[in-house]
Amino acid sequence: MAGIYVHIPFCKSRCYYCDFYTVTNLKLADSFFKALTFEISLRKKMLKNEKVETIYFGGGTPSLFTPERLQLIIDEIRSNFEIIDSPEITIELNPDDITPTYVRKLKATEINRVSLGIQAFYNYHLQLMNRRHKVFGALKSVESLKEEGFHNISIDLIYGLPEMTMVEWEKTLQKAVNMNIQHISAYHLTYEEGTVFDKLRKSGMLTPPSDEKSFIQFNTMVDHFEENGFIHYELSNFGRMGRFSKHNVSYWQNKPYLGIGPSAHSYDGKKRYWNVPDISKYIRIDKKSDDIQSEEILTETDRFNEYIMTGLRTYWGIDLNYIQRMYGQELSKAIETKLNSFVLSNHVREKEQKFYLTREGMFISDSIAAELFKEHVEQSSVE
Ligand code: SF4
Repeated sequence: MAGIYVHIPFCKSRCYYCDFYTVTNLKLADSFFKALTFEISLRKKMLKNEKVETIYFGGGTPSLFTPERLQLIIDEIRSNFEIIDSPEITIELNPDDITPTYVRKLKATEINRVSLGIQAFYNYHLQLMNRRHKVFGALKSVESLKEEGFHNISIDLIYGLPEMTMVEWEKTLQKAVNMNIQHISAYHLTYEEGTVFDKLRKSGMLTPPSDEKSFIQFNTMVDHFEENGFIHYELSNFGRMGRFSKHNVSYWQNKPYLGIGPSAHSYDGKKRYWNVPDISKYIRIDKKSDDIQSEEILTETDRFNEYIMTGLRTYWGIDLNYIQRMYGQELSKAIETKLNSFVLSNHVREKEQKFYLTREGMFISDSIAAELFKEHVEQSSVE
């Protein structure tokens, strides 16, 4: 089984925290659509032995494309790949693009899962991030999606905003639950190199919350969503039973995927590929298709480290028996020793040879993962 990701790189404006590859000039949308269609047929051999079970329109802002155009892309995928019955097909929507007509037309396509970039429930938080929608519009768009019969709705939230109070965050969590949706992704604000927020932070005009405050927000969020029936199945993701994002789960379960569009990444089990993050080059794909994709072969170390990273992030955990089977007794013993040291410090818990992050561990998952990476574990076992 495999997934296909389609990157639509257009946005009407740029959010201050975002470092995704996007362009705000929509003039190239038609040429881009032609190039995208071309790339779909160009890549048909990449998933040749796999059935496609998920398609994901991300961006950028895929909702800047009409539902008719999105369905044409799905049709093109269908004519080049084998698709399972009832695939999960997701689109990221900007609440500002959602009108009753758009929703009605969207329902007439094969898209059956929507992910709304709501991000916050206070207009001044949205303004701070330079989001183009308002809270009222976001609430209305969820209602209109539900009325039209969408039953697999996800929203995105951002926490750790500068100056955000606990009262604001608690109300945000409650409003998210009140929406009666199936899935929530919530990310701590990060300051990516080159973004407006990064510049403001470096110039001292914006102060991130302390680690302690961020941890309290994270903890409150996990408690609140779990109390309200959501399963915390990945560090930043909460879903009702049976409503996890199948597309993202397939990334975390090491399944192959194909990325179409500028900056999109692909993986076939052995190699990673990535498309050029440049729309001007991308739209010339039919002339010089070799130019737009780079690749690297994954080493055993890369694959092991990837397993550690995703195992820690998800509620499936790190399975010692799997490590022993795939990587041998020696590495399995070394990693067990290291994991047990994190059990003692209460960052990891163990159950039947599987290891999971505790809340404290979740908050510093990257530094724990780094200590469990193959190079590090082997080095420690020599010392
Ligand atoms: S709409 Fe999404 S992709 Fe576009 S700039 Fe904002 S966060 Fe980035």
